[in-house]
Amino acid sequence: MKISLVKKLSLGFILAVLGSIILVSVISNYTVGSKFKNYLVDEHNAKVENVVKIIDELYSTQNGNSKINTDEIQRYAELQEMYIEIKDINNNTIYSSGKAHLQHKNMMGSMMGGGMMRNFSGINVGEYNENKYPLTVNDKNVGSIIVGYFGTSYLSSASVTFVSTLNHSFMISALAALVFGIILSVVISRQISKPLAKITETANLMRNGELSVRVKTNSNTKEIIELSNSINYLAETLSNQEMLRKRMTSDMAHELRTPLTTLKTHVEAFMDGIWEPTNERFEIFYEEIERLTKMVDNLRDLAKLEQMNMSLSKSKINVSAEIEKIIDNYKPIYNKENYELISSIVPDITGMIDKDKLVQIMNNLLSNAYKYLKDKGKVTVILKKEKDNIIIKVRDNGLGIPEKDLPYIFERLYRSDISRNKNTGGSGIGLTITKAFVEAHGGKIEVESEVNVGTTFTIVLPGLIKE
Ligand code: ADP
Repeated sequence: MKISLVKKLSLGFILAVLGSIILVSVISNYTVGSKFKNYLVDEHNAKVENVVKIIDELYSTQNGNSKINTDEIQRYAELQEMYIEIKDINNNTIYSSGKAHLQHKNMMGSMMGGGMMRNFSGINVGEYNENKYPLTVNDKNVGSIIVGYFGTSYLSSASVTFVSTLNHSFMISALAALVFGIILSVVISRQISKPLAKITETANLMRNGELSVRVKTNSNTKEIIELSNSINYLAETLSNQEMLRKRMTSDMAHELRTPLTTLKTHVEAFMDGIWEPTNERFEIFYEEIERLTKMVDNLRDLAKLEQMNMSLSKSKINVSAEIEKIIDNYKPIYNKENYELISSIVPDITGMIDKDKLVQIMNNLLSNAYKYLKDKGKVTVILKKEKDNIIIKVRDNGLGIPEKDLPYIFERLYRSDISRNKNTGGSGIGLTITKAFVEAHGGKIEVESEVNVGTTFTIVLPGLIKE
């Protein structure tokens, strides 16, 4: 089942809000309830004590006169919802407040909140209690006071209001929190779902081949920013790949067409009897066929590179000596063109390296440098160590690589416009292979270049053996 982010978040928020409100009200009802009951009992006991004290005092001021002013006591009994009876030492009733005013309160109590209050504070609402207290004047027992009350009289109307206000406020805050939670969840989920919808839209456009689109989001959510960056990076990579694919196809078509056109026009000239099939002409044929064969060979190499499992046969070799040897091999070729090939090799650097691959790496770099040199050409090879790595640099002062081509020169079949125009006969896979070999060793290759100033390739190879 698919459920939208807005719905999911709102539901989560509502559940969380309701859950916490219920939890808080249960816990506070319980704690407040038990405290409240104690409070009510204490309050009642204080009231009764007060009544006894007041009657004692009244009695004292009347000097034991049995004709006390009962109006005041009556008012007090009604106010406090109590039954009050005063007896003399012989157990004769001197005064009784009567129980009429209690009956009314008892009915009200049972009607109003009896059930609720019973649950809330655990007080037995309808039960009638009576207690007897001694009546003393000047520390002499002169009779007794009987105080009676219904359970409900614990709950003065103020107490009832307090409890119901408490529950009311729980309900109101639950409602307010619910509304607030819903609004908040809608706002937050919009903030998340809006950029997500934008990203989806962009991804769909990309799926339909529009690789120039990019996600523009002003979200400040870290994950969303990261996701849009990844999508944009993906679009960038895909459009680069697309560009490379198109360029490669048109390059290949161009390179195949040139020899084929030459061959075709020659054959037509033979067929029309315009040209005699001489030896020189067959030589041109041969050269063109050679070019085609070379191209097919390059394609085969490339296919091999794709499937090549880069199993290296590493051994402990003297890298310094190997590189010196390769440089010596290249010196005559360079000298023929009056180019300089110089080196700065730290001696006796040893490492766990695949020797054949190292030779191929150096051959590719040195033949590239040679191909793209100009007058007063100079190539410098540097070998040194840095921490646990072997560093090889090949620096030339040749044609350089335009900045726009730099990111792609390690791609299959990629050749800069300069090299295509110079017709160096390159195939654009030398650096692809070089990079693959370096990476198989766990190393990396980097390039810095400026047109007409020169190019430097830097290789970092791990595997240095420290003696
Ligand atoms: P190629 O067979 O065309 O040399 P590579 O893969 O060896 O293929 O190189 C790819 C492209 O990188 C070259 O076509 C060239 O444009 C550029 N390049 C490589 N090395 C150099 C260099 N030393 N100076 C200038 N351009 C270079």
